[in-house]
Amino acid sequence: MRVPFRGITVREGVLVRGPAGWAEFAPFLDYDDAECVPWWRSAVESATVPWPAQLRTEIPLNATVPVVPPARAAEIVAASGCSTAKVKVADPRTTLGQDADRVAAVREAIGPAGHIRIDANAAWTQDEAVTAIGVLDRAAGGLQYAEQPCASLADLAAVRRRVAVPIAADESIRRAADPLRVAVAGAADIAVIKVAPLGGVHAALAVARAAGLPVVVSSAVDTVVGIAAGLALAAALPELPYACGLGTASLLTADVGGPLTGRGPGSLTALSAPPAPDDDPRWVADPATTARWLDRLHRVAALAAQGPDTERDRMGS
Ligand SMILES: [Mg+2]
Repeated sequence: MRVPFRGITVREGVLVRGPAGWAEFAPFLDYDDAECVPWWRSAVESATVPWPAQLRTEIPLNATVPVVPPARAAEIVAASGCSTAKVKVADPRTTLGQDADRVAAVREAIGPAGHIRIDANAAWTQDEAVTAIGVLDRAAGGLQYAEQPCASLADLAAVRRRVAVPIAADESIRRAADPLRVAVAGAADIAVIKVAPLGGVHAALAVARAAGLPVVVSSAVDTVVGIAAGLALAAALPELPYACGLGTASLLTADVGGPLTGRGPGSLTALSAPPAPDDDPRWVADPATTARWLDRLHRVAALAAQGPDTERDRMGS
């Protein structure tokens, strides 16, 4: 990782290959086995089932701005070529004033026609969110939306009633026992959808349909293999009104394949099937790491084989 993310500096995962191509199994290290089950189902799906029909091929991207000083934030946005930027805020090591400075620098870099969204990763209380969204909306000269300002659905819904800025749900959907029911709470205007935590491209498409909300497809800091699955979902959605968070390759110092390309710097072209990783010894983990991941994979696969465990799975997709 170029910048630590979720406390990690190295992104680990397993690439698997099946009849439909390559797939990625890379749940974060702090996830327990049960939470990894959809990630495994997603990998199995991409490796064995062709992706759904594509309704578009060019997927617009947002730049992702981590918790960095304002000058660096401006550089990231300028270098991205994207007309939408997602700015990470509410990091415990920083202040709201620093967040506002970063957001203002992003506006300066992206210009008046660009779109700025913030992602608080559930860090705020309801009152903190209302205050911070107001401050950052002014610093940005208008926010496109605020992603996951608070942890609970009840707080999201309350914040949504108290601010004019649209609210996006991310963790609320990803970590929900039943992602199909999240929209019912009236807690969000936009659904941020990631393929792996929702069990695969087809399963995520079902969640997107059930949410009945505009969808932003995002990555879990995937390699090119996982990003390609995200692009497949974005290509298959009935509507795609917002730029997607799939331009995360720049967060990695190197990738297992690619790079993926688009018609311009601010977009990526969806592929018809998963890409193969490069045959490069750099991507082979040391024996201890390999053993740890294979052990994890086998535990999770055994859990997944015990059968459907959510309504979404029972409904099929
Ligand atoms: Mg998020």
